[in-house]
Amino acid sequence: MDKNQPKNAMIVVAHADDAEYGCSGTVAMLTKKGIEVTYVICTDGSKGSSDPEMTSAKLIKLRKKEQLDAAKVLGLKDVVFLNYPDSYLEPSLSLRHDIAQEIRRYQPNIVITTYPSRNLSTHHGIGGHPDHIAAGEATLSAVFPTARDRLTYPDMLKKGLLPHNVSEAWVIGAPDPNLWIDVTPYIDISFEALSQHRSQIQSVTKKDAFTRMKRWRQDVASETSFTYAESFKRIIMDESIEIPQNYLYKESSL
Ligand SMILES: [Zn+2]
Repeated sequence: MDKNQPKNAMIVVAHADDAEYGCSGTVAMLTKKGIEVTYVICTDGSKGSSDPEMTSAKLIKLRKKEQLDAAKVLGLKDVVFLNYPDSYLEPSLSLRHDIAQEIRRYQPNIVITTYPSRNLSTHHGIGGHPDHIAAGEATLSAVFPTARDRLTYPDMLKKGLLPHNVSEAWVIGAPDPNLWIDVTPYIDISFEALSQHRSQIQSVTKKDAFTRMKRWRQDVASETSFTYAESFKRIIMDESIEIPQNYLYKESSL
């Protein structure tokens, strides 16, 4: 089968800034190659502030604005906010429905999301935050089988949202990655996108945040010849996609 460049990708995460921490170099690469990228942010970002002056209503507005600013830096097509309450996210049928609906609406070839289980071998927040786990679980269930099956959620058919088969799922924060993307050319734009989340990185200086981000991506790249990399567990459902960038893919031993 001839391989094709993917036309579009969707990133589904719990919070504003999860994608910038987890895969913004990859997102920058995809958009620079002409691939349309849409974010789906599951929560409303209403809880994550220790500022006693901050209210949930103010925080929701601020986090959305920052996410839209980051989207502009990365050249995204769209950002969808599902508005579930922050910190209370569950892998519910309702969340699965709403994600599947966006998958049917945007018809992405690649869906990127967070690891759907607790990873006890890491202390990184992205391995253990319950919202990240819930977002990953609901997203993978939305990819298969909900977005694909005609008779599941007939309300979507009534809205003209036809079944869609996603070609690949890439999972951020998996303990056994098999795909490394060279994000070296995108490290600056990746940081520029992260910097838009001003309310979330204000506790550290910009220089420290950049140094930390570079160190993570250097660590991830240590199994490759790249300077900076982002890694994923790549699950291929349809072989027809060619990744448009320097990458290392190790076949899973499963
Ligand atoms: Zn998060």
